[in-house]
Amino acid sequence: MRIGRFDIFPLVDNHFRLDGGMFFGVVPRVMWEKVFAADPRHRVEFAVRVLLIRDGRHNILVDTGIGGKLDPKLAERYGVSRPPGLLPALKAHGLTPEEIDLVLFTHLHFDHAGGNTWREDGRLRPTFPRARHLVQKGEWGQALEPDARSRAGYFPEDLEPLEEAGLVELYEGEAELLPGIQTFPTGGHTRHHQCVKITSEGQTALYLGDIMPTAFQAPPAYTSAIDLYPVEVMEAKAGILEQACRESWLLIFDHDPFTPFGAVEVREGKTAVEPVPGEP
Ligand SMILES: [Zn+2]
Repeated sequence: MRIGRFDIFPLVDNHFRLDGGMFFGVVPRVMWEKVFAADPRHRVEFAVRVLLIRDGRHNILVDTGIGGKLDPKLAERYGVSRPPGLLPALKAHGLTPEEIDLVLFTHLHFDHAGGNTWREDGRLRPTFPRARHLVQKGEWGQALEPDARSRAGYFPEDLEPLEEAGLVELYEGEAELLPGIQTFPTGGHTRHHQCVKITSEGQTALYLGDIMPTAFQAPPAYTSAIDLYPVEVMEAKAGILEQACRESWLLIFDHDPFTPFGAVEVREGKTAVEPVPGEP
């Protein structure tokens, strides 16, 4: 998909399964099960989708997926049964890991930062050894010293090797990291969660992270039980939908198993998110 001078490619790193009730939170099962089938363990399969952005000079990744070093017990629990797809997907675009210049993060949960590192001869190494990894300072602090509720979501082995290699640069608040590539904090899912906005030649795309992981969860009230601050999620979504509708943004979903892209439309006075054709 082209956004002005940028080419953007949603790349599927893997799929994982989460308990449907946990993922959809306040949404009753009778509503979500019309769209998502649960397995016998009540889990629904979601995509783990990373975004590659290219402008001819820079190769940028947003999030890095689950990666290949997930503990087998956790891989079984989360239904991660395929080999990691990010590096093969980059290869299909003619890119080696060394050619990634910049890695950005919506947040640092293991399904967004697990691909940061890989294990070789028992040692952890950065996957993208020449990339600057730009991280929200608050999210980095939270990930390395999680509160009691967040501990299961952050793994030090995804983060510490980057710091040891001097690849991490911390920043705070809203920022334009390259001309046309902005991040803005939303909070909600985690205290320092952010979205990534790509703008060029009058076009805008927004990688939503876990503030709106699937098109189904577009209604602001549809918050997940995993969200730490659900009221912030509602407020962030309402603001995004309003602006995305007014300015015809392309929305990019990280966990939607059916569609990577959506657009906001007004139908009978109500805003709705419609899928936009593209490779799932
Ligand atoms: Zn996630």
